[in-house]
Amino acid sequence: MSDCLFCRIVAGEVPADVVHETPRTLAFRDISPQAPVHVLVVPRDHHADMAAAVDADPALAAEVLAAAVAVARAEGLDGGYRLVANTGDDGGQTVHHLHVHVLGGRRLSWPPG
Ligand code: 5GP
Ligand code: ZN
Repeated sequence: MSDCLFCRIVAGEVPADVVHETPRTLAFRDISPQAPVHVLVVPRDHHADMAAAVDADPALAAEVLAAAVAVARAEGLDGGYRLVANTGDDGGQTVHHLHVHVLGGRRLSWPPG
């Protein structure tokens, strides 16, 4: 059993509210939503962060972004949305399996803290 939380979600060992799937990606609602729509898009394969995925499999990084856009469209975020890939400790990354946050459904503030 993997000790990576998002690998365990991909494997079905930890339940998640899945909203979108492709052969190489999975998208599920964040357990602690920061906006009316807050979905996480992950590659099924483990990559620690966006930088690692870009280096190892750039096509997969593009597939994660394409899935994030598909989620935004499916969630009806026609007025706009935000895609975030926190990377490393200073980037605020807490789960070290690449994920893109899809945030929307309200006007989002900028800059982040
Ligand atoms: P990060 O801070 O690494 O960019 O984002 C990790 C995200 O994972 C956080 O927004 C957090 O709420 C979410 N998260 C942590 N544990 C779980 C979980 O067990 N299930 C789901 N669906 N999301 C989780
Ligand atoms: Zn993982």
